[in-house]
Amino acid sequence: MNNAKINNVIIAGGGTAGWMCAAALSKLLGKNLNITLIESDDIPTVGVGEATIPTLLVFHKLLGINEAEFMAATNATFKLGIAFENWKDVEQDYIHSFGFLGQDCWAAGFQHFWLRGLKQNLVSELGDYIPEHLACREGRFAVLANQDKNYAFHLDAGLYAKFLRELAEKHGCQRVEGKIQQVNLREDNGHIQSLTLASGQQIDGDLFIDCTGFKGLLIEQALHTGYEDWSHLLPCDSAIAVQTTTINKPVPYTRSIAHDSGWQWRIPLQNRTGNGLVFCSRYLSDDDAKQLLLNNIEGELLNEPRVIKFRTGVRRKHWNKNCVAIGLSSGFIEPLESTSIHLIQQSIVRLMLMFPSNGINSAQVDEFNQQTQTEIDNIKDFVILHYYLTDRTDSPFWRYCRSIPIPESLKHRMELFRQSAKALKQPNELFGETSWVQVMLGQGLMPEQYHPIVDLMSDEELQSFLKTVKDGVKRKVGKWPDHLDFIRHYCPAGEQ
Ligand code: FAD
Repeated sequence: MNNAKINNVIIAGGGTAGWMCAAALSKLLGKNLNITLIESDDIPTVGVGEATIPTLLVFHKLLGINEAEFMAATNATFKLGIAFENWKDVEQDYIHSFGFLGQDCWAAGFQHFWLRGLKQNLVSELGDYIPEHLACREGRFAVLANQDKNYAFHLDAGLYAKFLRELAEKHGCQRVEGKIQQVNLREDNGHIQSLTLASGQQIDGDLFIDCTGFKGLLIEQALHTGYEDWSHLLPCDSAIAVQTTTINKPVPYTRSIAHDSGWQWRIPLQNRTGNGLVFCSRYLSDDDAKQLLLNNIEGELLNEPRVIKFRTGVRRKHWNKNCVAIGLSSGFIEPLESTSIHLIQQSIVRLMLMFPSNGINSAQVDEFNQQTQTEIDNIKDFVILHYYLTDRTDSPFWRYCRSIPIPESLKHRMELFRQSAKALKQPNELFGETSWVQVMLGQGLMPEQYHPIVDLMSDEELQSFLKTVKDGVKRKVGKWPDHLDFIRHYCPAGEQ
């Protein structure tokens, strides 16, 4: 396809995506590459994106990032899950935690045992059988050497980019400040040849990574790659974000509070709280959304509320010619399950695994695109599930959500769970069985039966098994300190 060797990598954009790319490529492949990042001080980053999921630990390990240092530098707190308030119905809440549920057997996941227990009145709420779930409710947290690390972070996105920038520059990444004014294409094959900045400077490259955010300056405006619109599946298209002072102790989970025409996030950092309302402009104006958010926050405002417009969907190709779109330029599901930063890191790792040092070939590009697409499709189904599977009929927005024309793949998953309590996890899928189970049950999908292997246990055996698991969870979490005490000891942020 193009046998030119790749020596010069140009990253366009310096938001979370740009600096994550720059840090990873320069640290891990930088000895063989010249890496340049271009960003404009005049064009702000999206400025949100502060809740993460546990896979970020893998990325940090790859980059040799010291967790306590990173947390202190970004005012981070720990996150063990997301509390979904008013999603199933008004005043009905559940938690999607990052932990694993109970103890499986070879034929059936723990939910099958719990479901029989439920029928016989032998169980308490599902979360009592997941350590991270109980820890959310009790506000406890610990990092222990011999324990699974099923946690993530709430972080300051601006400080995170700064932290990564230091790492990238230390490993040789060159930063150029300037506004990209023109993308120059080669006449022979339509690949990107260079970028021209407002200053007139021209920057040539062999491989271009588009991290310019929603506008997709390279992948869309120059290469016209196309966008698959998902707004019929994920109808929210706007957000208002604002930061406030913290008045309560930071909880170790993100709060997602459903309102009449969308939902509100509350993300606790060490020094402040991030707030936002994600909503659908068909049902709520920007002014009303702003008022609704301001009516539902705690603490003093630290900045002016800011409206962000977006269109849910995905770029038709993530890698097109010699341009790879990473971050918002490659699409946006919506922030409900905090999956964007995960998708950024996945694309970076995938690119490094398939890095086209000796030239770009079509098989690699197709494979990259297919893997990326499959991953996004699975996440998309998971996010749609929250909206579609609701009992809420109290507003036009929720009535629309109940009629979303959901993908066949999601229909199948829901039906499988309803008929057999089986939670499907596709190979390489982000969300595991425990995630699907917590959300499907949390949103009110009750299976009609459980696996027959559960009935091999007598009532006494089942009761003793369920009690052992629950007691084990309680004992384990009971040893964890208070979340804020742990932060103060492990990774306190400096004076702001
Ligand atoms: P941006 O932050 O928009 O950065 C674009 C960069 O390109 C900037 O540096 C800009 O200066 C530069 N640029 C643009 N044009 C030019 C030009 N012409 N010349 C030079 N430079 C240019 N993700 C999560 O994982 N968790 C969350 O909780 C979460 N919440 C979100 C909430 C909302 C409301 C939204 C909209 C998104 C959320 N996301 C979340 C997604 C997350 O914000 C993004 O994935 C992440 O910030 C990466 O953005 P980006 O770097 O792709 O784009």
